[in-house]
Amino acid sequence: MAQIDNLPPLRDVIREHGLDARKALGQNFLLDLNLTSRIARSAGKLEDVTVLEVGPGPGGLTRGLLAAGAKKVIAVEKDTRCIPALQEISDYYDGRLEVIEGDALKIDPREITEGPIKIVANLPYNVGTQLLLNWLTVDEWPPYWESLTLMFQKEVGQRIVADPSSKAYGRLGVLANWRCYTDILFDLSPQAFTPPPKVTSAVVQLHPREKPLECPLKALETVTNAAFGQRRKMLRASLKSLRPDAEARIEAAGIKPTARAEEIDVAGFIALAHAFS
Ligand code: SAM
Repeated sequence: MAQIDNLPPLRDVIREHGLDARKALGQNFLLDLNLTSRIARSAGKLEDVTVLEVGPGPGGLTRGLLAAGAKKVIAVEKDTRCIPALQEISDYYDGRLEVIEGDALKIDPREITEGPIKIVANLPYNVGTQLLLNWLTVDEWPPYWESLTLMFQKEVGQRIVADPSSKAYGRLGVLANWRCYTDILFDLSPQAFTPPPKVTSAVVQLHPREKPLECPLKALETVTNAAFGQRRKMLRASLKSLRPDAEARIEAAGIKPTARAEEIDVAGFIALAHAFS
């Protein structure tokens, strides 16, 4: 594939700005711009949306997104050292890139942008799941974002798309599949990153369901936490601490109190959430 822009190679950017990777910030960089362009393209049409990127680092995926035609990219980066390198990308792309120095966990995207947004990121592994939970548990639905295209450790990706009875099925899979269509698009081997992590990664995509089943969100979180917190136990035991009449409530939801969490599909958990709310 041809060069995607006339900016310096990422290895030079890293050397010039002293961006040696820091484990505490979950820094595993993608330096192959063909690969970052592939991830950017997998997010679909970008010409008429704002892309929110969490953790741009030296800017590999950011450059992929801009070269793929993103109308605007807002990139939130916690590591101060990366800001001058990202500013060079912003200058090259005539301000289509806005760089925000800060912690993505503390920033509400609705306060920094308007209109349709897609979220695309190679997430830092230490805060990736929490960020996803934040995006999935917003009050209004369909949400303010059109899609999420996110790199996770593959094991987390499998939990997001998991079906009942699979080992990976848990709270994350219930929440994600209640409100979204979820897919693993492709895997990336550790060698794709600098430094290479210990495990394979995967790009996961989520699109909001137009009309997910109506469900009290807090109760769904409480019930899935309790049920999967003790996943080997029968529901009548794992949900007992939530309400004194737990067993009757499980029956009222049309579920056998002797069933275990991993046997209950998303609709079943929604029935439980109503029964326990
Ligand atoms: N996007 C770059 C790439 O693909 O090469 C870097 C990805 S690296 C896996 C994760 C990035 O997230 C790092 O640049 C790290 O500094 C940044 N980061 C870590 N925690 C963050 C947080 N709470 N808010 C914003 N950025 C964060």
